[in-house]
Amino acid sequence: MALIVQKYGGTSVADLDRIRNVAARIKRAVDAGDRVAVVVSAMAGTTNQLVAWVHGLDPANYDPAEYDQVVSTGEPITIGLVAIALQSLGVPARSFLGWQAGIRTDGAHGKARIVAIEPQAVQACLEKGKVAVVAGFQGIGPDGRVTTLGRGGSDTSAVALAAALRAERCDIYTDVDGVYTTDPRIVAKAKKLDRITYEEMLEMASVGAKVLETRSVALAMQHRVRVQVLSSFEDRPGTLVVDEDEIVESQIVSGIAYSRNEARITVQQVEDRPGVAAAVFGPLAEANINVDMIVQSVSRDGRFANITFTVSKADLPRAEAVLARVKERIGFERLVADPNVVKVSVIGVGMRSHAGIAHKMFQTLADKGINIQAISTSEIKISVLIADEYTELALRALHSAYGLDAA
Ligand code: ADP
Ligand code: ASP
Ligand code: MG
Repeated sequence: MALIVQKYGGTSVADLDRIRNVAARIKRAVDAGDRVAVVVSAMAGTTNQLVAWVHGLDPANYDPAEYDQVVSTGEPITIGLVAIALQSLGVPARSFLGWQAGIRTDGAHGKARIVAIEPQAVQACLEKGKVAVVAGFQGIGPDGRVTTLGRGGSDTSAVALAAALRAERCDIYTDVDGVYTTDPRIVAKAKKLDRITYEEMLEMASVGAKVLETRSVALAMQHRVRVQVLSSFEDRPGTLVVDEDEIVESQIVSGIAYSRNEARITVQQVEDRPGVAAAVFGPLAEANINVDMIVQSVSRDGRFANITFTVSKADLPRAEAVLARVKERIGFERLVADPNVVKVSVIGVGMRSHAGIAHKMFQTLADKGINIQAISTSEIKISVLIADEYTELALRALHSAYGLDAA
């Protein structure tokens, strides 16, 4: 008898038929003798709607605790519905909100981190032979208020619960049958991977491959949780996330990801002197706004610089407001913001030992006439920022150039 955590994403619980399908799948595991804890997301589209309502009232200065109050309300619906669907199949089940499942987080509303899980209530439920259906994406902060973990955070809830329960496996059921070399919805020739290393999956997730949320992969890596990504609509083995030594044949580039999550800001004509970068990025850090790519270019006479960087699209209105407030102090001429950009990244552990990967990326994009607005790299990843109208073209061209196309 194994203890398994199963997680179902928004499209898998998008309507009552799909919820019945999920319940039937859970029943099969129960009938096979497994104990099952289930984590579910809100119905597809629900969380977007909730976020839009908050932004509709106040795009920049809303109270983050109230934001969480609103956006955490999608999952409570689906846990109840899944529990009812299970009960009507004769499977004993009960639902748990984040706090009822003992999911404790820090107080960073909107992007809270799980600090501990006290799983006794869920364990007691499982020991009684019931399925525990837990709300993903939410927890309880130090002040007793509901928190959310950031978009896509149900994956993290599932992996954290699997670690706390010492589950044998964490199965992430979604609308694709595994992790592909790139988003199969954009590149038809994308190939499904049987296995991917934690490290590559972490990097892919962190640059936008939303099939797994970044923190869920980091947690899985840290706690050695066996994660499998698979389809809730088909019966096929999915992709296993494993250690590097479990990979038989490794590729130099294993995947390509993109993120439409970023927005570009250029601070034009700042004086090129020590301390300006600190003056620009200090107030953003204080406002808890993360900055990703950064490029600085200096004018021909060396007196002025343009500082270009990216923030998440959600933070753009706040970032603009923060910089407008310190305009006088920094002394820049103009602030230009562009949300119509995409970050495209190639990932592979083979980059550590092979040269020319970046050159191939730049050349491939140049051949298609695509301009690169910013670049950033890590040991196993190269990212470029381009205009978002070229997303599909760039992904397809790079996928072919690195020899990843399915035959
Ligand atoms: P869920 O609601 O189940 O959490 P998500 O929409 O968050 O599902 O993630 C699944 C989606 O991730 C897929 O529909 C696919 O479009 C996208 N995706 C992006 N990159 C990849 C990739 N490399 N492999 C598989 N899916 C990917
Ligand atoms: N419902 C949340 C979201 O849409 C969490 C998740 O789906 O993982 O971001
Ligand atoms: Mg998701």
